[in-house]
Amino acid sequence: MDEYLEVRNGMARFPEAEARLFRVKICMDCNARNALRATRCRKCGSKDLRMKSSHRGK
Ligand SMILES: [Zn+2]
Repeated sequence: MDEYLEVRNGMARFPEAEARLFRVKICMDCNARNALRATRCRKCGSKDLRMKSSHRGK
């Protein structure tokens, strides 16, 4: 029962637009958004990419 609830929340909690944010990395140098798989910023070439994650919620 718990398992089901967990899955359902994971699917429904975020709107599509917001869910997208979790699939990008943000360059710490220029704030460009890069693909999740990117290892370097496509704009400035920095390797200092950080996962875009939300600390909102409870
Ligand atoms: Zn950059």
